[in-house]
Amino acid sequence: MSENKKRGMSTRSVHAGEDHSAGNRPSAPDIVMSSTFVVDEEISFSANNLDADMPWVYTRWGNPTTNTLEANLADLENAEACIAFASGMAATTAILFSHLSAGDHLVIQNTNYPGTAEVARDTLARFGVAITAVDTTDLDTIRDAVRDETKMIWIETPSNPLLRIVDIAGVSEIAKQNDALLVVDSTFATPIATRPIDLGADLVLHSLTKYIGGHGDAMGGSVCGSEELLGPLRSEGLSHYGGVISPFNAWLILRGIATLPLRMRAHEENAMAAAKFLEGHPKVERVLYPGLESHPQHALAKQQMDNFSGMISFRTSDPKAIAERMMTDLEVIHYAVSLGHHRSLVFLMQTEDLVETSYALKGTERDKYVDVAGEGLFRFSVGIEDSVDLIEDLERVLA
Ligand code: PLP
Repeated sequence: MSENKKRGMSTRSVHAGEDHSAGNRPSAPDIVMSSTFVVDEEISFSANNLDADMPWVYTRWGNPTTNTLEANLADLENAEACIAFASGMAATTAILFSHLSAGDHLVIQNTNYPGTAEVARDTLARFGVAITAVDTTDLDTIRDAVRDETKMIWIETPSNPLLRIVDIAGVSEIAKQNDALLVVDSTFATPIATRPIDLGADLVLHSLTKYIGGHGDAMGGSVCGSEELLGPLRSEGLSHYGGVISPFNAWLILRGIATLPLRMRAHEENAMAAAKFLEGHPKVERVLYPGLESHPQHALAKQQMDNFSGMISFRTSDPKAIAERMMTDLEVIHYAVSLGHHRSLVFLMQTEDLVETSYALKGTERDKYVDVAGEGLFRFSVGIEDSVDLIEDLERVLA
């Protein structure tokens, strides 16, 4: 696959991970729906002896279809290796629990995917890991939060749902100076927009359920990085915690990746059209889209992202009434959670719920969030339909 590294992202999306070396192999990837494999050598039963080159023995340790997906993702992320998981959260917990121990300290973004925020604050704390949640758009704040026991810095860019952009190269310098691992949740960006490893990240996480799978039909997660850092994730995260992806889902996601560059272009084009429409609408108080000049970090987004992706957050007057209208009156866009699908999805992310329950923000950080989000932000995952139809749908519910 090293040949693929010299090729363009579209070619790599289609071909990376293919292996026809055994001869007589189908052009499209196989789905190997077998939980176990016939073996012809003695195999250790301990997950501690698992490595990437082991023959296939049991699907919780490795599977041909899953391995093809992993090789493809490692290639797109310019990483040495990758491990696929059952969901983005299985990938998240695999990283947190395989690389952190009691007494360690984690610096984490204070407004990120709520599941990540809650597992860090509630579950890790129970196991004796100290957490400091900060606004990671400010490098000085990160510098101040880091201490001797800091083992990991966790950022998400663009972040969910404020679409904050974090300077990956800047945070990587801080992480390296302090011997801490930098983990980047790059779900909103995808490798088409940003390749965090090239910017100094150690591990890159994706919810494959989102843009990478892209069709809203399969859950998955992945972590790309060096084989050395993935070692504990393979033995503990995958084999012991057991969040293994179904080979069928791995196959669906592989099929999705083939069109990822095309879809990302369409997502970006439609998102730009929708963001401009929303910016000009009298009922819309605020639009956040990294591609708009009005985005507070547009310059950083331009520098770090080759594609502004398809996520818009917008704020309106009377959001609860508009959400109710969306539930009944939208014809094309689905009022539903999740994101990154070919279908457009919109959902009201209520401030009180996020600020109190998921992020537990206090003081000025709480004020900063409320100042941007008001009562709530509509998180709009702009799909690949015709933008005129999406705008017509929005016009109807905002009227
Ligand atoms: N990271 C981000 C940025 C997300 O938006 C999500 C889900 O929305 C996750 C991680 C978790 O992924 P999954 O739903 O596949 O478990």
